[in-house]
Amino acid sequence: MTARRAIKTRSSLPQVKRIVVKVGSSSLTSLAGGISDEALVKLSNVIAARRKEGIEIILVSSGAISAGVSPLGLTSRPRHLSSQQAAASVGQGLLMARYHDAFAAHGVIVGQVLLTLDDLMRRSHHTNAHRAMERLLNFGVVPIVNENDAVASQEIRFGDNDRLAALVAHLVKADVLVLLSDVDSLYDGPPKDGAKRIPEVSGPKDLEGVNIGSTGAAGTGTGGMATKVEAAIIAASSGIPALVTSTDNAEDALAGKDVGTWFSAKGRRKPIRKLWLEHVARIQGSLIVDDGAAKAVGEKRRSLLPAGIVEVKGNFESGDPVAITNQHGVAIAHGLVNYDSKELPQMLGRSTRELAKELGHEYERSVVHVDDLVLLRKRLPTS
Ligand code: GLU
Repeated sequence: MTARRAIKTRSSLPQVKRIVVKVGSSSLTSLAGGISDEALVKLSNVIAARRKEGIEIILVSSGAISAGVSPLGLTSRPRHLSSQQAAASVGQGLLMARYHDAFAAHGVIVGQVLLTLDDLMRRSHHTNAHRAMERLLNFGVVPIVNENDAVASQEIRFGDNDRLAALVAHLVKADVLVLLSDVDSLYDGPPKDGAKRIPEVSGPKDLEGVNIGSTGAAGTGTGGMATKVEAAIIAASSGIPALVTSTDNAEDALAGKDVGTWFSAKGRRKPIRKLWLEHVARIQGSLIVDDGAAKAVGEKRRSLLPAGIVEVKGNFESGDPVAITNQHGVAIAHGLVNYDSKELPQMLGRSTRELAKELGHEYERSVVHVDDLVLLRKRLPTS
């Protein structure tokens, strides 16, 4: 597939070729009532209509865990992983059955794709997921994606489908990512205080002073506004514009009308591993560095050497993701560390040559290599 130019405004949305649409649990389900047929059918109608016009759509749908709650006789979203897995296993089947029927009414076929983090991160799995998705789209199918909650362990879970959707958009080289939830737009404050809608975000400046809440309203979803904004930024920083709006606005959004908050594409496509390291990876510890090292890493794009590290925090193993933090406590980068936290203290402040002489040649390598390092943008304000 040849590279396409990112669309600049939401009004171009009807002309795009490939869209990833993500819908949240709270738009489709309630804990007491399970799946809301009305909402699911309404959304399926909108997507099926676009699919029939030739637009390729990948739907990332949450709702499996929530849909499995009531059939299992539970009263609230389970907290233990094994019960969440059981609920997801039951709910995912129910969800797909409903989607199948709703799309079949338009003659559109759907296909289930359940992904784990590994499927997106490991090159061989990544290629496989990509190939499967392309083939489904060629067949005219609407792939319906969810995290493989029934088998995902706590450590490797995404947990929220917002960031999963951003990585899927990257995987399939989507033209745009549309994130649907129960909130119609980003606002510059609490709506009850007369806050104004933020129609467009073209950089971190547009989010200054905006407090992005962190929890969903209905208790069914996991992400809240913060993960939506994070997902929109992941996509935008990798060249894919994103629109954040409500499921009720889905039809208007896909028609390019002036709804929601539009995140214009900023960066160029980057390796998925770097997106993961910046936004998704669980950071296991931090390396506090002096000003010289902060500059070398942050401005000169160099590897981090032991000489510039003043302190090590946390317990981690070689290969784990860690933060590189300056002496003012600001994380400037994330990277994969080459040593265990136990090995590092004896190395701090010393040159690699000295260490190699004293401890052996394996101590000549950098602490974080520049290829395994990603600089951080300004963090987002969240409550
Ligand atoms: N994958 C989870 C589910 O389908 C939902 C994650 C989320 O709420 O984003 O239940």
